[in-house]
Amino acid sequence: MPLVSASSDALDAAAAHLRRGGIVAFPTETVYGLGANALDVRAVARIFEAKGRPEFDPLIVHVLDATMLARVALPLPPAALRLIERFWPGPLTLVVRKTEAVPHLVTAGLPTVAVRMPAHPVARALIARTGVPLAAPSANPFGYLSPTRAEHVVRMLGERVDMIVNGGPTEHGVESTIVAFEPTVTILRAGAIAREAIEAAIGPVASDLGDDAAPLSPGRLPQHYAPSAPIRIVDFESVPPHERAAAAGVGFAVAPPGYRVARALSTQGSLREAAARLFDVLHELDALTPARIDVEAVPAEGLGVAIMDRLRRAERR
Ligand code: AMP
Ligand code: MG
Repeated sequence: MPLVSASSDALDAAAAHLRRGGIVAFPTETVYGLGANALDVRAVARIFEAKGRPEFDPLIVHVLDATMLARVALPLPPAALRLIERFWPGPLTLVVRKTEAVPHLVTAGLPTVAVRMPAHPVARALIARTGVPLAAPSANPFGYLSPTRAEHVVRMLGERVDMIVNGGPTEHGVESTIVAFEPTVTILRAGAIAREAIEAAIGPVASDLGDDAAPLSPGRLPQHYAPSAPIRIVDFESVPPHERAAAAGVGFAVAPPGYRVARALSTQGSLREAAARLFDVLHELDALTPARIDVEAVPAEGLGVAIMDRLRRAERR
C-alpha cells in the first residue's frame, strides 16, 4: 500500500516519483489532489488513466510562487492580479492565457490554463521539492465523490497511483472557486471562496455555473460528485418513517430522527463547517450501503451555494 504520512523523507520520495513521471496523491486545503508534472504530457496522461477521466477535461495546475506562475501563464489581467493579492495562496483557481510550456492535454486544447497557488503546507512542500508546477485534479475516479481524507484515496484509487501522501483531513472540503476573465470576469464553479468575497475584492462578477455541459468545466457536468447510493435533497418533514428505515439522513444542523443512520453537517449551523464535512459524511454513509441518502437543503448563501451545487449534481446521477 503506497500510503505514507507527510514526513520529510516521504515528500522526498514523492517528489522523486513526480520527477520521474509518476502520479502522487497529496492533500491540499480543498480536497486531495492527484498530481503529476504539468509540463510532462505522459505523466499527465497517467492522471486521466487512473481517474478514468475523459480527455476533454482540463486540469488545474498548481504553482508555488510567481516565478512558477510565469512558466505556465501569460501576463495576467488586472482583476486577476487583484484576486491573487487577496486570495493566494488559497482555494481560488484562475483561468488565464497559457504559455507554450503547458501541454495541450493539460488544457484539453484550450488556449487558457486553470491555475492555483495552494496554501496547504504539504502541497507546497511537494511542489517546492519537485521544482515544477503540478497538474492535479481531485484524487477520485471521474464523477465520484471528492476525497477529503487520504483513506478515501486509498479506497478509490489505491494501487493505481505511485504514492498517497497523508496530511490528515482537508480544511475546506469543497473544491476551489474557479474564475475566468474573458470575455468578462465570470465564476465558472462555486467553491471554497464565496462569491461575496470575490465581489468585495473586484466588484460585481458574472456567474456561469450552467448545466450547458460544454465540457469546459466538468465540475459543471450536471451529474458529478456522486456516491454509489442515490442522493435525494429533501425536506425531512415530508419523509415518512417507513422511508427512513433503510436510508441514511444528513441534516444541516441536526441529525434527522428515524433513519438507519443519520448525521448533522454542522451542529453549530456553520456553512463553513458543513462544506468541510460534506464529502466526508457522504463517504462515510455511502460505505454503509444505505438504500438512499436523504440530505436536507442548506441555506443557499455564501458557501451554501457550493454545497447545494454539489448536492444537486450528485442527486442527478
Ligand atoms: P478538479 O481538478 O477535479 O477540481 O476540476 C478542475 C476543474 O477546472 C474542472 O471542472 C475543469 O474543467 C476546470 N478547468 C480547468 N481548466 C479550465 C479552463 N482552461 N477553462 C475552464 N475551466 C477549466
Ligand atoms: Mg474533481
